[in-house]
Amino acid sequence: MGNLCVRNAVLFPGKEKADIYVKNGVISKIRMHAVEDAPVCGETVCGETVDAHGMTAVPGFANMHTHAAMTAVRGAGEDMPLKEWLDAIWKIESKLSPELIYWGTRLACLEMIKTGTTLFNDQYWMIDNAARAVADSGIRANLSYVFLDQFDRKKSAVQRDECASQAARALSWQGKIDFGVAVHSVYTVSEESLDWAGRFACKNGLKIHLHLSETETENSFCREKFNRTPAEHLEKYGLLTENTVAAHSLHLTGNDIKILGKNKVCAVHNVNSNLKLASGYKFMYKELAEAGARIALGTDGCASSNNLDMREAMKTTAILQKAWRKDPAAMPLPELMHAASGAGYEYMGLDGGAIAEGKIADFMLVDTSGHAFVPGFDFMSDFVYAADSSCIDTVVCGGDVLMRGHKVKDEGEIIGECRKIFRKLI
Ligand SMILES: [Zn+2]
Repeated sequence: MGNLCVRNAVLFPGKEKADIYVKNGVISKIRMHAVEDAPVCGETVCGETVDAHGMTAVPGFANMHTHAAMTAVRGAGEDMPLKEWLDAIWKIESKLSPELIYWGTRLACLEMIKTGTTLFNDQYWMIDNAARAVADSGIRANLSYVFLDQFDRKKSAVQRDECASQAARALSWQGKIDFGVAVHSVYTVSEESLDWAGRFACKNGLKIHLHLSETETENSFCREKFNRTPAEHLEKYGLLTENTVAAHSLHLTGNDIKILGKNKVCAVHNVNSNLKLASGYKFMYKELAEAGARIALGTDGCASSNNLDMREAMKTTAILQKAWRKDPAAMPLPELMHAASGAGYEYMGLDGGAIAEGKIADFMLVDTSGHAFVPGFDFMSDFVYAADSSCIDTVVCGGDVLMRGHKVKDEGEIIGECRKIFRKLI
């Protein structure tokens, strides 16, 4: 974790200038000043110094639902219904190797850093390789072992053993990485696996990551097979808790919303993925929040949303909520920002998602010199609704500068290797 001094940044959400001092990955001091280039604070030792003149410091994004290495299948299976699309993707995924997972995750981390994400919550295969990629990228992540046994008892037994040994191996991971347990969904995972995963996560204090009510087909399947909604089914196995991310949470009954609220589940809206796969769009933001659930945003994997750009996800989330509710006040910018950043940090138990003394130093510097920030009535409005993510100049994670002047270390090598290796999949 780094030491750092950021000089002359405008401090979001205000308009004042400030120097931000970082010690061992934590914001140790913020010194507001009215004049440009005020003398360096004598009490604080600087590591690297970044001049943020003309830039606004904004908390880093938390992308709370990803399948990072799916960058390797970006653009495959376009314009298909969900079932056919899943079959096409799973066919390509059967060729995935540890090398592909490593480079796919490196490419995802590169893309996330370039678009201001400092924390992501991932569900995918062969995660020791993803953990190496995350550590080499310097970003923060929660990586989950994923159950997907297709109701096969033998597979369930194998996956329970694999999950336990993966949890043991995760103790030696380097970098800013946590380990969690994922169950793919109610339509791909047996009751034996759900039961085991719920108890294992509870006993070991692990985060749980699952897909919930992504489509109406999933709901019909669950009702027919178990005579319950997916939320009722997962609650039965202790899988809906305050340690759970429930990705999508799209087709919910009134009782489902109560279940998510009562258990303080973190419901993650993946708007661009849902729209593109035509899964639905009426995410019950207001109702879930009122019931007590936590709300965060995600992109889902690159096979469905095609990119990992959280600022783009924020814009689509907001304009869609406003449109279908016929209410322009349905998604205010401060709540949108909390869903894109602070909510994910809170879920992970990390003191981040804000730029203040004592918070972990995960933030970005946004260059406001471009046309999108003129005349400049409201920074957040310009950033979300007018700009694109190329305005993000610098990204800091745990005090480590991961991008500066739009440049990320090893960027050329990552893109070159991925081009070469991903050809095997086409
Ligand atoms: Zn997903």
